Amino acid sequence: MILRRFAFGAVALAVLVWLLLRPPHEAGGDPRFLQREFPAMGTWITLSVYLDEGQDRAAADTAIDDAVRFLQDYPQRWSAWGDGALGQINRALASGAAAEIPAAMQPLFRRAIDAQQRSAGAFDARIGALVKLWGFDEEAHYRSQPPPETAIAAALAALRAAPTDLRDCDGAPSPGCYGPAPGIAWDFGAIAKGDAVDQAVARLQAAGLRNAIVNAGGNLTVRGRRGDRAWRIAIRHPRPEDGQRLLATLEPDDESVITSGDYERYFEYQGRRYHHLLDPQTGAPARGLQSVTVVDTDAALADAASTALFVAGPQRWRETARALGVDEVLVVRDDGALEATAKLAPRLDLPGAPKLTVIP
Ligand code: AMP
Ligand code: MG
Repeated sequence: MILRRFAFGAVALAVLVWLLLRPPHEAGGDPRFLQREFPAMGTWITLSVYLDEGQDRAAADTAIDDAVRFLQDYPQRWSAWGDGALGQINRALASGAAAEIPAAMQPLFRRAIDAQQRSAGAFDARIGALVKLWGFDEEAHYRSQPPPETAIAAALAALRAAPTDLRDCDGAPSPGCYGPAPGIAWDFGAIAKGDAVDQAVARLQAAGLRNAIVNAGGNLTVRGRRGDRAWRIAIRHPRPEDGQRLLATLEPDDESVITSGDYERYFEYQGRRYHHLLDPQTGAPARGLQSVTVVDTDAALADAASTALFVAGPQRWRETARALGVDEVLVVRDDGALEATAKLAPRLDLPGAPKLTVIP
């Protein structure tokens, strides 16, 4: 009996070890399909590649390793409160000094500033102090009720007084410095995932991997095809408790699909949901929408836009999309009603065929 139990245990252990050690690309049964899943940037990332006929698997694995490392290292530079480069910039600003922005980081600063200007301030990456005040900088800091009005007013006053743009550094004629800006901290949470998936997929493409999806917690970018068919992706429903997990499916054509929703980080207080998408005009969570999805060839733009349109709200999302130069948008309003732009609407498959209002 004891021996039988031992034998059973040994077989079970062997199966477990085999499952764990089995190369991930054999998981789906199709040897041309390679996939990695790992935590990074506060979410789960799934990186999928489909090899072209006869393409070398070992070389592909090396390229995928490189993309995985890139995504794992990304937060080191861009986390607002860590000990990396952006954390140092924010600490310099908090001490009352100006900060020099490393050359490699300037392009994303410029893109964020451009999004701020085009969206009339709905998107504002200088919002770090407000995000922290609301406790949305990390899960352990979530509050049980809104912060005091006086603290919100002080953070808003600092935002209004602060410069919006980079300026020349002292003694050097290049516009690579910011501040002094007391009370300001930069937070790239609304644009970084798009930028990261764009860059990760560019690395795969440079290594000859033409067919790939990089999916960072539902924010994804797609290239090429899966063999003889298109990749098909799903957009999650902002209220899955209503019985429906998927809002829509779609076949992206070398595009990114990025969603901002009020379900990602929030707490409830007196029956009201307080979420992480803050309106820089009021200093409080933006009201009127549940989610905004943007489809575009440029993931960083789609990411900034999804946040900006969410904050712009039901009355202003369409004009804000125009100002930002994105024209494929799907919106879920507070009452659950769906709206989409004329360009995106015909591409969507909507389970349950709900009513969709097309906005020209
Ligand atoms: P996303 O999921 O891309 O919409 O990004 C949300 C994150 O962006 C939040 O967790 C904040 O860190 C930050 N954020 C919140 N409100 C804004 C805003 N109005 N403009 C820019 N970033 C914001
Ligand atoms: Mg965003």
